[in-house]
Amino acid sequence: MIDSATVDRIMEAAQGQITDVISEYVNLKRRGINYIGNCPFHNEKTPSFIVSPHKGIFKCFGCGKGGNAVNFLMEHEQITFVEAIKSLGRKFHIHIEEREPSPEALQHQNERESMMVVTEYAAKYFAQTLYETDEGQSVGLGYFRQRGFRDDIIKKFQLGYSPEQRDALTRQAQQHGYKIEFLEKTGLSIVRDDYKADRFRGRVIFPIHSLSGKVIAFGGRVLKSDAKTAKYLNSPESEIYHKSRILYGIYQARQEMVRQDRTYLVEGYTDVLSFHQAGITNVVASSGTALTVDQIRLMARFTPNITIIYDGDPAGIKASIRGIDLVLEEGMNVKVLLLPEGEDPDSFAKKLGKEKLLQYIRDNETDFIKFKTSILLEDTHNDPIKRAQLIQDIVRTISVIPDSIVRAVYIKECSKLMNVEEPVLYTEIGKIKKKKQEKEALRPAVRPPVHEAPPRRIRIPRPCPSSPAIRWSRKNGKYCAS
Ligand SMILES: [Zn+2]
Repeated sequence: MIDSATVDRIMEAAQGQITDVISEYVNLKRRGINYIGNCPFHNEKTPSFIVSPHKGIFKCFGCGKGGNAVNFLMEHEQITFVEAIKSLGRKFHIHIEEREPSPEALQHQNERESMMVVTEYAAKYFAQTLYETDEGQSVGLGYFRQRGFRDDIIKKFQLGYSPEQRDALTRQAQQHGYKIEFLEKTGLSIVRDDYKADRFRGRVIFPIHSLSGKVIAFGGRVLKSDAKTAKYLNSPESEIYHKSRILYGIYQARQEMVRQDRTYLVEGYTDVLSFHQAGITNVVASSGTALTVDQIRLMARFTPNITIIYDGDPAGIKASIRGIDLVLEEGMNVKVLLLPEGEDPDSFAKKLGKEKLLQYIRDNETDFIKFKTSILLEDTHNDPIKRAQLIQDIVRTISVIPDSIVRAVYIKECSKLMNVEEPVLYTEIGKIKKKKQEKEALRPAVRPPVHEAPPRRIRIPRPCPSSPAIRWSRKNGKYCAS
């Protein structure tokens, strides 16, 4: 429960600083007395999403969504009113008195909330174990220190340690009133009849945060070199964690992604940490999964510009090239940086530090089409058939780019790189598009598109207590609130 005076204070602060709240999610540009940006609630190329700092409200003229800062957070994060208020309270440093949930209260919370309560508890437990137990310090903290991570980075990412003992977390959580049902559903505990065990025992822990900063899952790295299990282990898919829809580090990166208008995409947890430690915070990782459309859309909410950073392992690069085609398909601008042999983002960031690393990226990042062509061209060894196949492949990549001007630039480039006349490339693209259309026409209407996102939770809109009733109108091409 939050008392109404605190709610009012938070609502007031949020109204006065609505651009602050929204610009964490949307790249806003000043337009007269208002701000304008691409709507985060529907797909658009021309901005029709307006924020009025004066009135403390937002409105999208494309999809019609509008309201105050609290409504925005509720809609965007798919959270409840109370959750939005709490999140804004944290943002504006307004203290909210909260009681520790009693076992009865825990029982009454719905499943999702209960799971989040358990993951939050576990994150705290792991972090405490890391710093406050002998085993945590010598094994877990010892590992992070040996990797060169500073305390501020360890704390920023809530890194932790899960002890060797079979059910240390499970037992302590149950003693504190957390139900085994939710410990199991979040994947923290493995339960078989009377046997209970901690999934992550003996591992250092990397909590995975949602966009709003809640811990929704964990990654654990085993430390024993003789271990027979996988080096990295992740929480299983659950009601609160869909690994294809989240990026590691997005919560810590999103503001800087907007500010810098660029995202660096790296491979692993420690790569993200090293970049942060070097002072570069607009960095995320897809952590173990091939890049998905949902992850790309998640990045696209903040900026269309992305630099993918690879370490020089050719097998890994070829495997991920399909992922980049997806990025282009979403209309994003992709650059690629190949690190020197023997370096990974982790080692390289440590070696160079912020300024030199950023300079290196600027000097060496290449356009994706160029990158793909040069990597694959080496493989053809001047074999004409292989070369023809490569041209087909590159043309297919170009054909997915939605913007015709961008496409034309790439065609010009490709023509030069591969020594093929531009009209030939245009003809090939035409053929691919025609084939695609024919395929789509043949597809039975009931079948969903291949990349369709899973259905979102539907929430019944709830009026916000002090949501202002404001009418928007268009005068001389400007949007005004009255
Ligand atoms: Zn919209």
